[in-house]
Amino acid sequence: TYQYPEINIIAETTTEMSKNVKEYLNQIELERQIRQEFFSNASHELKTPITSVQGYAELLESGIIQDEEQNKDFIRRIKKEAVHMTSLINDILMISRLETKEAEMVCQDVRMSIVLDDVLESLKPLAAFHEVLVHADCKPLCIYANARQMTELVSNLLSNAIKYNKPGGEVWVTITEEDKEMIIRVRDNGMGIPKESLGRIFERFYRVDKGRSRKQGGTGLGLSIVKHIAGYYHGTITVQSELEAGTEFTVKIPI
Ligand code: ADP
Repeated sequence: TYQYPEINIIAETTTEMSKNVKEYLNQIELERQIRQEFFSNASHELKTPITSVQGYAELLESGIIQDEEQNKDFIRRIKKEAVHMTSLINDILMISRLETKEAEMVCQDVRMSIVLDDVLESLKPLAAFHEVLVHADCKPLCIYANARQMTELVSNLLSNAIKYNKPGGEVWVTITEEDKEMIIRVRDNGMGIPKESLGRIFERFYRVDKGRSRKQGGTGLGLSIVKHIAGYYHGTITVQSELEAGTEFTVKIPI
């Protein structure tokens, strides 16, 4: 009897197609959940400084506090919360830009020594505040990339190495080229990261010590942005750390 092999082929193709559709729908659902979680975390993170600002503003408005110094202290706190909100919004905008406008990103030959010099200059006050000494070495190399993203990447790693350090601590940043890859290494002899946190530090809004991060003006988004940027250029980021001894981040990006 004739077996109609075409029917088998159609059945197999249909099963394969429905499997692909299911996988695609699962992927969309996962992305929806990640986005949802991001918005809910972001709103929560913004609510905290807004609530503080409202509280201090109401106290000032009520006129209950007669002490001039205390009034000034409240104003300082309002300013600090505003600075924190600005960092949060800037980081959220950077993530949104990375996710939605990647295709429109303007790339050019970026000289890494210029990027590093700019970052070092802008982080001078932070390093002075934390009494941390920064050593830098950059080989003359150019990478076809978006300058702003490269600046963001180096700046986030370097500012963490300074922030999570101790007075008198040191930071070493090197930018080299090996086997057609640009290698950015940022090492510090600061507080280190506990082993159980190492796998989570690249997650959005994750902080080892929430209080400390907030005190330093951290948003919990810096490393997730660095990872996203490295990934955009088909690069990788790895970390090695020992508590109380220090941390080293290594970013490798194909040139
Ligand atoms: P944050 O804005 O809190 O600094 P990041 O995403 O940049 O957020 O970093 C996530 C967490 O990883 C930080 O809160 C901090 O606990 C930890 N971390 C990052 N870099 C270092 C470092 N060089 N030394 C110690 N801990 C670090």
